[in-house]
Amino acid sequence: MSFLIGPMRKHINGHKELTAHNEILSLPKLEKVYIPITMGNAKIEVKVKENDSVKVGDVVALRNDHFYVPVFASVSGKVLGIEKRMGSNLKPADHLVIENDGQYTKAEGLSTLSLEEASAEKIIDFMKEKGLVGCGGAGFPTYVKYNTDKCETLIINAVECEPYITSDAQGMGLNKDLFHLGVKAMFKASKAKKCMVGIKVSKKDLIPVLQDLFKDDKGIEVCPVPDVYPMGWERTLVYELIHKRYDRLPIEVNCIVSNATTAIMLGEAMTSGMPIVEKIVTVSGDAIKEPHNVRCRVGTPFSALVEACGGYTSETVSLIAGGPMMGTSVIKDEVVVASSTNALTILAYKPVESLKCLRCGQCVEHCPSGLEPVNISNALKANDVDRLEKLRPMDCIECGMCTYICPSKIEVTENVRKAKRLMALRVKK
Ligand code: SF4
Ligand code: SF4
Repeated sequence: MSFLIGPMRKHINGHKELTAHNEILSLPKLEKVYIPITMGNAKIEVKVKENDSVKVGDVVALRNDHFYVPVFASVSGKVLGIEKRMGSNLKPADHLVIENDGQYTKAEGLSTLSLEEASAEKIIDFMKEKGLVGCGGAGFPTYVKYNTDKCETLIINAVECEPYITSDAQGMGLNKDLFHLGVKAMFKASKAKKCMVGIKVSKKDLIPVLQDLFKDDKGIEVCPVPDVYPMGWERTLVYELIHKRYDRLPIEVNCIVSNATTAIMLGEAMTSGMPIVEKIVTVSGDAIKEPHNVRCRVGTPFSALVEACGGYTSETVSLIAGGPMMGTSVIKDEVVVASSTNALTILAYKPVESLKCLRCGQCVEHCPSGLEPVNISNALKANDVDRLEKLRPMDCIECGMCTYICPSKIEVTENVRKAKRLMALRVKK
């Protein structure tokens, strides 16, 4: 398998200035929150029933199969029941509805953790108990990655390469101590020899702050990386920092990668005992009146974020959970903030008329996975499954670069996505 072929690194307009220096908005009290409790096809045990009282940080549901993932109440109040709403995967999903009493009463007995007293194993158990998940959008349980003795390098991904998103950068600037604590705890849990904090070279105000933060921490280094897309993709960042390629997971090259906000959330849990119940979400794009980072509870509908930011500026908009390159279109603003949500991007819908493919090869040249998007599109159109198999669409990371780069405005990424779905169905048969 060949990854990282071709230039694949391109500076793209980040539009970060829209939110980078704005104050973080706090939402007015929400009447209800809708906690997502569906996780694919996994069986979820709901721990509360209608009319139960809950406090912030109480476990309200639990996934306990090959993954252990507790789900927490993000407000205090009364359980109203379970409601189907559209999930970020565009499928109806169960959400636990909690009526917010506005008191935000903390659950009793929330455990904290002292870094000095905790062993690596204890930190990993703590990540598990607190339901810590990747906050870069992936939502994968963090403790699973750290259950290894093979890690030599821990990489903290503070790159935030997607356009518009600034929630990691603002979070780090505001929560320096929690970030510092979280990174040190992750470093201890990983048992690695070194820790590299990858941050874009263009974040000129934040780099010296982080260098000062880690100046006395042996083995932790702040590493500026080029301001190109998709530098924040794990595979690109690992290659940039340790010059190694892997097939499926970074641990194949003795590496763990964790997102910067995940480290902040770990620091928060260690200090206050609170799991992820609140997030900073970037609400930005060219079709929102007042782009801002917004502090909100898990379970907040996107519609409330839009309202807090002054509403839409266009009658027809594209709503994307995450950034415009790798995020997921969500169609409706009833979708809610999950513990892994980092952004809501709102773009004016502009119907694009695609032209004929020029066979320019740009999409091939810039694909970070070393794929041939144009040929995948053609094989899909011809329903040539044998050819598709050879073209490896399953290795696509859906970074959006092929669509972005295409001079004929062809939705190449969408074609590759369709090819992936087709191949996945064939595997299942
Ligand atoms: S979306 Fe997929 S095919 Fe297109 S450039 Fe990115 S990785 Fe390559
Ligand atoms: S970038 Fe667009 S026009 Fe060029 S080869 Fe790919 S699909 Fe065709």
